Amino acid sequence: MDHVLHLSCLICGRHYAADEIDYICPDHGDDGIVDVVYDYDLIQRRISPSQLAENKDWTIWRYKPLMPVEADAPVPPLAVGWTPIYPAPRLAAELGLTHLWVKDDGRQPTASFKDRASAVAVVKAQEKGAAVITTASTGNAAAALSGLCASVKQPNVIFVPESAPQAKIAQLLVFGSTVMLVKGTYDDAFELCLKAANEYGWYNRNTAYNPYMTEGKKTASLEICEQLGWQAPDVIFVSVGDGCIIGGLHKGLKDLVALGWIDRMPRLIGVQAEGSSYMAQAWRSGEDVLSKPAIVANTVADSISAGLPRDRMKALAAVMETDGAYITVTDDEILAAIPALARGTGVFAEPAGAAAFAGLAKAVDQGLVAKQDRIVVLNTGNGLKDVASAMKSVEMAGTQPYRVAPDLDDLRRVMRQLPK
Ligand SMILES: *Cc1c(COP(=O)(O)O)cnc(C)c1O
Ligand SMILES: [Zn+2]
Repeated sequence: MDHVLHLSCLICGRHYAADEIDYICPDHGDDGIVDVVYDYDLIQRRISPSQLAENKDWTIWRYKPLMPVEADAPVPPLAVGWTPIYPAPRLAAELGLTHLWVKDDGRQPTASFKDRASAVAVVKAQEKGAAVITTASTGNAAAALSGLCASVKQPNVIFVPESAPQAKIAQLLVFGSTVMLVKGTYDDAFELCLKAANEYGWYNRNTAYNPYMTEGKKTASLEICEQLGWQAPDVIFVSVGDGCIIGGLHKGLKDLVALGWIDRMPRLIGVQAEGSSYMAQAWRSGEDVLSKPAIVANTVADSISAGLPRDRMKALAAVMETDGAYITVTDDEILAAIPALARGTGVFAEPAGAAAFAGLAKAVDQGLVAKQDRIVVLNTGNGLKDVASAMKSVEMAGTQPYRVAPDLDDLRRVMRQLPK
């Protein structure tokens, strides 16, 4: 890893060699998140947009020289990354916009954005020869780690709140993880997992604790810019729970600016549920996120329900340093966004994914984006992850199936009643 200069503590700025610490700055405990600092001159000699144009590896590993792994590190076989980015002209027109894309990370192997980070976790754990990997999760990070571990037969222990949606728990069990359903919130599961990792010496994938998760998540920014022909968008909308995704997007964009592959920094707009809006509150009030206490989180969008966003320093910087914003949306707005996004693009999102689109609609109302802006909305999770919420969303939209007897006469009766 000669292209990694060092790891730098976000609090004290102290530098550590990559092999000196595994996770956090020892001087700052669990808050001492570190950032991976690269030698861009060296990277510049190993990868370029024109080389990428010839590269047939349609996964995150096409960016390996920009990632914190050895050039010859074995990677899991599941195809993570290079998810489609769809132009959405109809939705754009409805909102009075001109350039809108939806990038669909519901298309990842385990159906959420989290595969990007978990793929890197598996590579790093295997580099260490770890016997067991662990994580706490609201569900998707767990499913991602579980699937990626299954692909290389890596034992793992997962901590999720017992309230996690059935589909996500099913994924964990199907992939063969050891599953701990924690009688408590995600925040409780996180604390227990940190303790367990210490107690048993497991490799720790936890968001905002393991510095390499940001590096996996940043690949979405690299893809967005490459897919748009290295013409960076003006604005990116993403939903925010722990803040690792928005921090990762920011990191990828900073890499690209440092390499000179894009000429300006897009604005990052973080979308939170009103019932889980720690970051939005801190951003509005200017509160210090190191001293702001946890809030009680409660939202239908389970993947962004986080009382104490673990990656809050990076999440705040992502918005502050890009002239972005935090906005909040209600659970009703999130649920309404599921069919709206699906009917406008064919992309079926889970609540946390649809929240980003709900945020765009709100940002248009608030004048936060301009008509000509080139805008990307990131769908972070597949709608099949949470069918109960999807059913609720269509009920609210007034869409119902028709009950019909298996004969043509009855069908004719129903057809006559259909709205024209
Ligand atoms: C994890 C997740 C998010 C939020 O990511 P953070 O890094 O926690 O901010 C958003 N949407 C989905 C579907 C997720 O799984
Ligand atoms: Zn420190």
